[in-house]
Amino acid sequence: MSQLAVIYLDLYNLIFDIISNIEEGSESRMSKITKIELVEFSFTVANSGPSEDGYDTIYTPDADGKSSSLAVRIETSDGIAGEYVGGVPLAVGQSAYLAKKIIGRNPFHRLDFYEEFKRGLRKYDKMGAGIIDIALWDWAGKRLDTSVATLLGASRRHLPAYASTYHGDPNGGLTTPQDYADFAQHCVRLGYGAFKMHGWTDGNVKREVDAILLLRDQVGPDIQLMLDPACQLRTLSDALRVGKACDEADFLWWEDPFRDGGISQSAQKILRERVRTPILVGEHMRGLESKADLAVSGASDFVRVNPNYDMGITGAMKTAHMAEALGMDIEVHGAGPAQRHCMAAIRNTNYYELALVGPKSGSSFPPIYACDYSDALESVGADGTFPVPSGVGIGVQYDWDLIRGNATNTIVFQ
Ligand SMILES: [Mg+2]
Repeated sequence: MSQLAVIYLDLYNLIFDIISNIEEGSESRMSKITKIELVEFSFTVANSGPSEDGYDTIYTPDADGKSSSLAVRIETSDGIAGEYVGGVPLAVGQSAYLAKKIIGRNPFHRLDFYEEFKRGLRKYDKMGAGIIDIALWDWAGKRLDTSVATLLGASRRHLPAYASTYHGDPNGGLTTPQDYADFAQHCVRLGYGAFKMHGWTDGNVKREVDAILLLRDQVGPDIQLMLDPACQLRTLSDALRVGKACDEADFLWWEDPFRDGGISQSAQKILRERVRTPILVGEHMRGLESKADLAVSGASDFVRVNPNYDMGITGAMKTAHMAEALGMDIEVHGAGPAQRHCMAAIRNTNYYELALVGPKSGSSFPPIYACDYSDALESVGADGTFPVPSGVGIGVQYDWDLIRGNATNTIVFQ
């Protein structure tokens, strides 16, 4: 190397170090987390109530079902707030435990928090971490004046969606196989190119099979169909009967079939050997490492992730890249702005889950948006897609008067 080249390289390194130090210094001067507000709040869902066993929400005429959600607002010393609504109320203790530990810290340092939260909650499911990570992505987007999808490097603007139903009910909503077929055809007329049935919760396998076959018969061959018993089938034998029906009806996937809870790798392998329809499990396993073990075990055809449950957008994108490396598709669970930004930046994924919907049920989402963002059934485009929000951060504005006005538990750290 010539002397001139050595001098040039030294000069380049010096300038690089100076710029890096300035950036690090300016970040730490300008941006520290000063306050975190966690708000658990309640809302009503029209025409909804508990299923017979009390663990699912089903269509219940003239009843206002109670539901709840968790909001977070992270304020920083430069006057910008990162916000997110969609946390897991059952995990509010975890969220509070983590929130107080990052007061005074640099809000850009999401990867440090990911590592700390993972170890700090190693004895627990870590479901309280996601809401904080997503709010910090929202903050970063606002701070840098761009959307989270853009920060992730995505250019995709529209996401093909499937209508994902409530569980069946005995009350005249989704009560018969024909009810599902009628509702699927309604969704197709709205623009959806895919439809997922959550079946009944009473273990009636014949009715489940009848609905699967009727759906294919009545929507025709061009609509993608999926089934999610959500672990309600009682036995492996019941699951095999239902899986064979999915084969006959050419379903795109079936999901968490039976009472192993969607976590038994040996059970899923038996199902995968005897049923041709691709199986999707993993929604009930937490953590990048557990999902990687499931993927390489050969127990699932797809990987499942939800940024709310799986350590935020940071955790979801790590999981998506793991799946990509294995040549597998990853399906993002649930609806919301965080899901949309993640999906925009994932090549190996298929459908946005517009959940939960039914022919007579109200929206399962609280009316929290003070902007035109919507996860209503009817908000689908004629081409069957939902847009990726283009505003800064996660691209939505929240109605904090409504959220705080319906608070049932408020925790503030500063
Ligand atoms: Mg599911």
